[in-house]
Amino acid sequence: MANKKGLILCVCQGTCPSFNKMNTLEVLNAIRREKLVDFVALHPQLCADDGDQYLRVLLDNKDIDKLYVAGCDPLMQKKMFRETFEAIGFDAAKHVAFDVRNLTTEQAVSAIKDLIKNNP
Ligand code: SF4
Repeated sequence: MANKKGLILCVCQGTCPSFNKMNTLEVLNAIRREKLVDFVALHPQLCADDGDQYLRVLLDNKDIDKLYVAGCDPLMQKKMFRETFEAIGFDAAKHVAFDVRNLTTEQAVSAIKDLIKNNP
């Protein structure tokens, strides 16, 4: 079925201090419990080669209509993933990037909820 929405939380290998304040699994659980998206995922490094492969395999599913990526700076994300999206024909406008670095679990959940609500 078309119009699937997913959230990926990307956390710089889990070693970056920017993500130390949040419980990443709890952030994802909070979003999935409320069924705000059709799927959630945690990826350690989307900007690495295997992250690129992950995006290619995932987005080969043409039913995905919106991909929220919570991680680093949105502009950085846009630049890093541009080539991949172009290569697989995924409209970059369907990628909603946002920065959750240095947020607590509660702050990240709240920011992600707002973002999904404002970018349906
Ligand atoms: S995409 Fe951003 S958040 Fe993810 S590993 Fe790369 S720099 Fe870190």
